[in-house]
Amino acid sequence: MDARAPRGTADMLPDVARAWEHMTRTAQELFARYGYEPVYTPLFEHTEIFARGIGEATDIVAKEMYTFDDRSDPPNSLTLRPEGTASVVRAALQHSLVPQGSFAKLYYSGPMFRYERPQKGRMRQFWQIGIECLGAPEPSADAEVIAVLWRYFETLGIPAAQMRLLLNSMGDEDCRPAYRDNVAAYIREHAGAMCDECDRRAGTNPLRAFDCKNPSCQEVMSGAPLLRDRLCEPCAAHYEAVKGHLDTLRIPYAEEPRLVRGLDYYTRTVFEVQVDAGLGAQNAIGGGGRYDRLMEQFGGKPTPGLGFALGFERTLLAMEASGAKIPAPPRAEVYVARVDESVAGEAFELAQRLRDAGVAAELDHMARSLKAQFKQADKLGAALVVVVGPDELAAGEVTVRDMSDGASDRVAIQGIVDDVHSRLA
Ligand SMILES: [Zn+2]
Ligand SMILES: [Zn+2]
Repeated sequence: MDARAPRGTADMLPDVARAWEHMTRTAQELFARYGYEPVYTPLFEHTEIFARGIGEATDIVAKEMYTFDDRSDPPNSLTLRPEGTASVVRAALQHSLVPQGSFAKLYYSGPMFRYERPQKGRMRQFWQIGIECLGAPEPSADAEVIAVLWRYFETLGIPAAQMRLLLNSMGDEDCRPAYRDNVAAYIREHAGAMCDECDRRAGTNPLRAFDCKNPSCQEVMSGAPLLRDRLCEPCAAHYEAVKGHLDTLRIPYAEEPRLVRGLDYYTRTVFEVQVDAGLGAQNAIGGGGRYDRLMEQFGGKPTPGLGFALGFERTLLAMEASGAKIPAPPRAEVYVARVDESVAGEAFELAQRLRDAGVAAELDHMARSLKAQFKQADKLGAALVVVVGPDELAAGEVTVRDMSDGASDRVAIQGIVDDVHSRLA
């Protein structure tokens, strides 16, 4: 048998898991300031939720989903979630979280699944954090969502100077269909110079040709018509207002009229944050947009919505490249050492008293010598070692050694918890 994790998955060992928890905690604290509440949805949904929500012609739905039949008769077609938005919007509809005239702000974090070729920062099981702001049509909501993403990366220690915020408008049902037809016609005019995939896209999802990595396709698409020049008046006004609000917040952005992002549900604002270092060509660490029609796709009432998702793996690479620090608390604040086996019970009980009092305490379970216990205390980063010995114990005392300067004191065992607290403070 192959006893390794499946290709495209990774075990999060303590260093990486700690980084994930740091990123999650940072998100919880920051998102709460903007009024976001947590939500957890199932890791799998009925396949139609993604097929309809994300779009049949997207790469995700066409090629990358983990879809399976369950054991019901007849079987349900289920799919491991490839992204978070469709599930959150489905849940908001099911539980009526956004009655007319109301709004909801939700955030999620957890694993997503896409069958892709694994590469640096791109896994088949990958982790995302995202927010969804439902019910708010105003352009200030767009700028606020973008501000949350921008501030989040800054809070993690990625300097603003190393990030680029790209901004575009995808238009809406009034101006996009005609534009899509323009792009499809443009691709057909240049069919000879484009890859087979893009030829096919002309009939299904022409805007995806802007994302094609083929140099000759990129060359052709650099001359394609731009939606920016064809937005209807309300879409153009919305886009201008979003930019104005970003200016107010002094969040720098670059307009990228070819930014389309790979999902069909976007309307109007789309955005992406990229970094210069650590990721190579796959340099986006987060992005999102507005999806005012998504709730209707699922049979709900028209409900404006927008949000972002950011990838844990890529964000961590960007943090490492920019030298951002991930806090690593010591595994033990206090190490309880024993001189010999005769006081093992007292040492065990003392460690528990310290833990009950909120102190991270560790002790030996391997019958190590006193010297080896001190070595272990040092390795765990303990600030103090409390030594329990038969002679001291007979006098109702223990020895407390300060590991920073080696100074030792005899302390009454009765007051040891208070003593440790004052020394750690
Ligand atoms: Zn192409
Ligand atoms: Zn429009």
